[in-house]
Amino acid sequence: MRTTVLILGGTTEARELAELLVDEPDTRIVTSYAGRTASPRTPPGDIRTGGFGGPDGLREWLTAHAPAILVDATHPFAQTISASAAAVPEVPRLRLVRPGWTEQAGDRWHRVPTLDAAAAALPAHGDRAFVTTGRQRLDAFTALGLPLLLVRCVEPPGGSLPPNVRLLLDRGPYTVESERALLDRNGIDVVVAKDSGGDATRAKLDAARERGIPVILVDRPIQPAVPTVDTPAAAAARVRELLSAP
Ligand code: NAP
Repeated sequence: MRTTVLILGGTTEARELAELLVDEPDTRIVTSYAGRTASPRTPPGDIRTGGFGGPDGLREWLTAHAPAILVDATHPFAQTISASAAAVPEVPRLRLVRPGWTEQAGDRWHRVPTLDAAAAALPAHGDRAFVTTGRQRLDAFTALGLPLLLVRCVEPPGGSLPPNVRLLLDRGPYTVESERALLDRNGIDVVVAKDSGGDATRAKLDAARERGIPVILVDRPIQPAVPTVDTPAAAAARVRELLSAP
């Protein structure tokens, strides 16, 4: 019988982990998606899609499939699913989360604790904003009535958007050259971002530094304390250890 490994996904790291583990003998890798993205870049192995129904639903899935380990490789800002994963003590758990970004000389970062705090801080730093924090709480930014909000997200936000919003549907990775050109073309004077970490979307920060543009950076939420690694390789090593344990 094959041993199941459940990866809670939606990130590059989750996909890379599935790639690293998929050829493990007698092992079934299942990556779980929330189902928010119409065409996610799917990893090898099995895929399941859609919420579990909170911690109770997740517990039911775990009982039915009896995975050897649950790896929470969701985005650092995905709080609800990580809370669910931390609340099921019956299965060994591991969290895979990429490190946050660190400030460099020349950066003009203003760290804030929440999206609402980012919106509150925004008018003091600029009025042509590049907002890269996703679809959630977009209303907090549109309510400011700034001359321009260039909003970039993977999926379109629901509802109608006011005329000061320029919507850009796109998904990384991005280069510094393309980000610099985007800032210049739109006359951007402030960037709003989450401290997502990783290489795929950090180019906007490098481009902002080059242009001397301030960045309002939303800090990561506090997540439950579970054993944590910060690379797919480290997570794969830990999973292999567990799979080979007698
Ligand atoms: P969230 O607030 O933690 O999750 C909302 C609900 O979506 C959860 O309660 C859960 O439903 C379901 N869900 C989330 N991730 C799931 C997964 N991997 N498998 C099955 N169900 C999942 O998360 P979010 O911030 O909306 O993000 C949703 C997904 O997008 C996450 O998987 C995350 O990795 C990915 N993502 C998020 C961000 C971000 O900035 N937040 C950025 C890039 C990718 P039930 O409670 O019914 O189980």
